Amino acid sequence: MIKSENNIIKVSSLKVSCDGENNNSSEGHPLIWLQIDEEVGYIFCPYCEQKFVFEDKYT
Ligand SMILES: [Zn+2]
Repeated sequence: MIKSENNIIKVSSLKVSCDGENNNSSEGHPLIWLQIDEEVGYIFCPYCEQKFVFEDKYT
């Protein structure tokens, strides 16, 4: 469901969580939830700048 690729995490849900553990350049941060704007299609974590890309695999 979630896979990491070139510092971009593709997700199939508009709501994602991040605690920094996915980003090798970060030492981690408190767990937060991010809501992806469906019209934008991606969001950056304000802590570790990890990019999450919404990808609807059914389209
Ligand atoms: Zn983060």
